Amino acid sequence: MSVIQRNTRTIDLSAIENNMRAIRASVPPQAKVLAVVKADGYGHGAVETARAAIRGGAEMLAVAAVSEGIQLRKAGIEIPILVLGAVSPFDVQAGTEYSLIQTVCSPEMVYLCEETGDALGKQTEVHMKIDTGMGRIGVRNEEERDLVLKAAGDCPHVKITGVFTHFSDADGNEDGIAFTKEQYKKFLKLTESLPETVLRHCCNSAAIHRFPEMALDMVRAGISLYGYPPVPTETELKPCMTWTATVSYVKELPAGSFVSYGRTYQNDKPVRAATVTCGYADGYFRSCGKEGYVLIRGKRAKIIGRICMDQMMADVTDIDGVAAGDEVVLMGQSGNESIDAEEIASWTGTISYEILCSSAGRVDRQYF
Ligand code: PLP
Repeated sequence: MSVIQRNTRTIDLSAIENNMRAIRASVPPQAKVLAVVKADGYGHGAVETARAAIRGGAEMLAVAAVSEGIQLRKAGIEIPILVLGAVSPFDVQAGTEYSLIQTVCSPEMVYLCEETGDALGKQTEVHMKIDTGMGRIGVRNEEERDLVLKAAGDCPHVKITGVFTHFSDADGNEDGIAFTKEQYKKFLKLTESLPETVLRHCCNSAAIHRFPEMALDMVRAGISLYGYPPVPTETELKPCMTWTATVSYVKELPAGSFVSYGRTYQNDKPVRAATVTCGYADGYFRSCGKEGYVLIRGKRAKIIGRICMDQMMADVTDIDGVAAGDEVVLMGQSGNESIDAEEIASWTGTISYEILCSSAGRVDRQYF
């Protein structure tokens, strides 16, 4: 017996492939394009996203953790994979075994890779991270950089093949633009003495669109690959994820009825309400209960009352014929109406990234 899914995120893989192709075409030809597929491909599915991105021209992938890289290797993906997080004693062995490129930012991290490489009889590729203003990981000045380079020079099982930094405010206002330019200058200064064979990369999505002159040897495309460029761009990018649920129940509420926990919603005139099979345990945001909408039969239905763990309610008074079993579009297109991750993010005071990544385990995922 087949089970009808309560709610589903549908991923358009050809849109991911086309987005990658469009990004590739917008980047200077000498620069490689890396696809960032961490956090399960920003909620789109890491393996499927990686394959689509490769079809679209990605030459390298990035993940946040070794476990994510192993998932890609086990699926048969062979192109270089960079682990963006700092290498650690907990996963250096697995990272080396699966030929992942590890990130180092101290001599100790280089020695860790050396010991592991020596024990496994294998050379480890590493990229050195430079902190030019993000304040997260990375060497911060010439002295720290030289200690890492010296350590790598002493370690036959470690090869530095790349060096990178991360912009903290490339999508920001004028101050953010000025700060990004400072970060870039600092990065150039700290990397100018390195051999040309070492890949230099610094651009995230915002910088790819805003500062093509900073592309250097490679760019790292994350959110734009999924169709949500964080700054205006002429590059044609399309969202790749649709999120749907169903109406499970419809009822007439006389004036003065309460809906959901805490009785925060009470109607002053009669309302027809639909119950929808999606809640915060499916990755929907509890705070959307104040301002959010869903789409039913091509129309907007306001969410009423607090979002529950597994269900939510919407006002369908003005939508004819709503019945149990109707499709509810939480994100995507219905008739002439659409809701995208940016809009949902605006209701909850967050960013599109968090909406896309919120895909919880019990949400079904389908691809086309
Ligand atoms: N590079 C690094 C080091 C990152 O941490 C991220 C994302 O967090 C990216 C690139 C991709 O950024 P975006 O999704 O804004 O393109």
